[in-house]
Amino acid sequence: MLRCSFCGRRAVYDRRYAGAALCDRCLIKSVEKRFRRAIAEHKLVSPGERIVVAVSGGKDSVACLHLLAGYCSQRNSKVVSLTIDEGIKGYRDHSLPVVEENAELLGVEHFVVSFKQAFGASLDRIVRLARTRKTGLNPCTYCGVMRRSLLNQAARELGADKLATAHNLDDEVQAIMLNYVRSDLSRLHRLGPIYPSREGFVPRIKPMREIPEKESALYAILRELNIHLAVCPYAGGIHIEIRDFLNSLEEKHPNSKFMILRMFERLKPKISQTIPEFEMRSCKVCGEPTSAEICKTCELLGQLGLAKQGKTLI
Ligand code: SF4
Ligand code: ZN
Ligand code: ZN
Repeated sequence: MLRCSFCGRRAVYDRRYAGAALCDRCLIKSVEKRFRRAIAEHKLVSPGERIVVAVSGGKDSVACLHLLAGYCSQRNSKVVSLTIDEGIKGYRDHSLPVVEENAELLGVEHFVVSFKQAFGASLDRIVRLARTRKTGLNPCTYCGVMRRSLLNQAARELGADKLATAHNLDDEVQAIMLNYVRSDLSRLHRLGPIYPSREGFVPRIKPMREIPEKESALYAILRELNIHLAVCPYAGGIHIEIRDFLNSLEEKHPNSKFMILRMFERLKPKISQTIPEFEMRSCKVCGEPTSAEICKTCELLGQLGLAKQGKTLI
């Protein structure tokens, strides 16, 4: 029987990248410690701040909501839960009640903003339109761009000092690799534990960034959190290929994911030097901040014959 390297109890997890095994209690303690360390090291939360947490109902975001609610309650900071309902039938409609129940349990205010309300169309409809019009873009492109934009706008309207997302180590390393593969330096240099404020943008923080996906999942299970376990029906494409590649690399060469993250952190200052500062403007169509004349959301909507509905979300 594998024993916990810290207390000798029965281990539930083999942390191969660190050459240690952990029991349930030590794993919970370790995840919470890493979470607090990331906040302290990168000054992600200051006392008195209002933190809006993007919560989908999945294991990472529910764990993030619980961890932040606990952290902030001891520091006079306030946590608010925000869910974007993209409109994915049989998937998002099942996760919405899960978020609501968690928010209620924690006594946290909860808001939902839908694609339907903001764009006059659900993601399901956007995907159908994209197929009819043969745009060649996949569902995740629409979903990612539009959700990011709504999260920022809603967080701003909610008076957020920070917008927290639950990206874990695996998500961050996948994003690093994806931007390498796409040779997208400008997106690459935006990755990190905090993306600072620009006019109209709420600073985004990632307090789970040093927690591997497996540990985040185990944390949610061991703490018996109410989570939504289904997989999005649109998930696929290069993201999944990169995820599988990284998992097989980690399996054969433990610690590869952390090494990729550390290497990126060393390179990032140099990468940032090569990115010219761009001027922030307001989108000519919807007024949201953008570096171009028209923001990416309005550009994508325009190709589908859709448009943003109204100026405010909340
Ligand atoms: Fe959106 Fe793609 Fe994630 Fe589904 S898998 S929620 S479509 S980004
Ligand atoms: Zn232990
Ligand atoms: Zn716009």
